[in-house]
Amino acid sequence: MNLNNISLRNFRSYDELSLEFDAGVNLIVGDNAQGKTNLLEAIAYLGSGKAFRTQKSAELVKLGADFGEIEGEIFSQERNQTLRWILFPAARPKQLYRNGVKKKTAADIAGVLQTVLFCPEDLMVLKTGASNRRRLGDTALCQLRPNYEAALTEYNRILEQKNRILKDRHENPQLLDILPEYNARLCQVGALLISYRARFYEGLGREAAQFHKHFSGGKEDFCLEYKTVSTVTDPFAPVSTINEQLLAHLQSHYRAELESRQSLTGPHKDDFDVTLSGMSVKAFGSQGQTRTAAISLKLAQRELMKKESGEIPVLLLDDVLSELDPGRQDFVLNQITDGQVFITCCEPGRFTKLGKTIEIKK
Ligand code: ATP
Ligand code: MG
Repeated sequence: MNLNNISLRNFRSYDELSLEFDAGVNLIVGDNAQGKTNLLEAIAYLGSGKAFRTQKSAELVKLGADFGEIEGEIFSQERNQTLRWILFPAARPKQLYRNGVKKKTAADIAGVLQTVLFCPEDLMVLKTGASNRRRLGDTALCQLRPNYEAALTEYNRILEQKNRILKDRHENPQLLDILPEYNARLCQVGALLISYRARFYEGLGREAAQFHKHFSGGKEDFCLEYKTVSTVTDPFAPVSTINEQLLAHLQSHYRAELESRQSLTGPHKDDFDVTLSGMSVKAFGSQGQTRTAAISLKLAQRELMKKESGEIPVLLLDDVLSELDPGRQDFVLNQITDGQVFITCCEPGRFTKLGKTIEIKK
């Protein structure tokens, strides 16, 4: 899939903008605060109705404007299609049009324009805390499997309610009566999450290993290991088996959870680790290895989405170029020949052989 062009009105820092894009690489160059990331945000929003820097669509409307607009033409599903969003600064609901026809929700435009975002925070994701890796995995899996997104939302809702019970039970002891019910439901939905994740991480690791092999000249063996609750002996087992194992673990932590007043165990603590030729990146990876492995993971995510839908998602690389050494910069600028890529950068003097350069000023 390709984004052929985009038009913005009163979006973030833009009054009005119309751009035509290359089907290959689009290198977006400009000084700080000129609107480069805003442009990527518009592209991601166009396909998903979600902004990556805010939960509030109202913030996307240029300050002082009555409404904001994003419109773009996309070649996907073997034809040209248009998407158009109209956003409002107040609580008024946003409007969505596909090929001129009004639609209710982003689910009505699923698959028209998919994007994969890679930003500076992702570069060190294998070194930082587990929550960043969970977010990376969850974001990817939600894009791939809408049913997973529904289960994850449900899980988080039950978990929040359970935590409230654990916090309030001193003041309100009869809350303990309903705790087992919450635990049971948590394990049911949690088992489903683990089942999805096991399959997803297996595929992601397989694809990422290919990219990493290419980057490292075949020297390093990339291996991804999904880590979940210790009593789950096989995350590929039937969901009912995982459910029982989760429940056993929760029951053994029942006292401890009451005392600490928080949920101590469950798939909300899941993680994954990457090893290169047997050495954990988290513990031993060099800066370069860590970054290369992170790029491999993103390219792998894109590959999985391509396998699922037959269309390669648009890749958005925000500000990662300056963090990479010359060899990896060359790879990003000149060697991703599959699908459309948008790359933002501040430094002048960068070029791509695979598309065009767009300068953004005010
Ligand atoms: P950098 O190189 O530093 O990442 P950038 O080119 O990516 O810069 P953006 O983040 O795209 O910059 O744009 C930031 C500018 O957009 C800021 O100056 C900010 O004030 C402005 N901006 C963001 N939202 C709005 C809005 N709703 N209305 C008006 N201006 C906005
Ligand atoms: Mg930026």
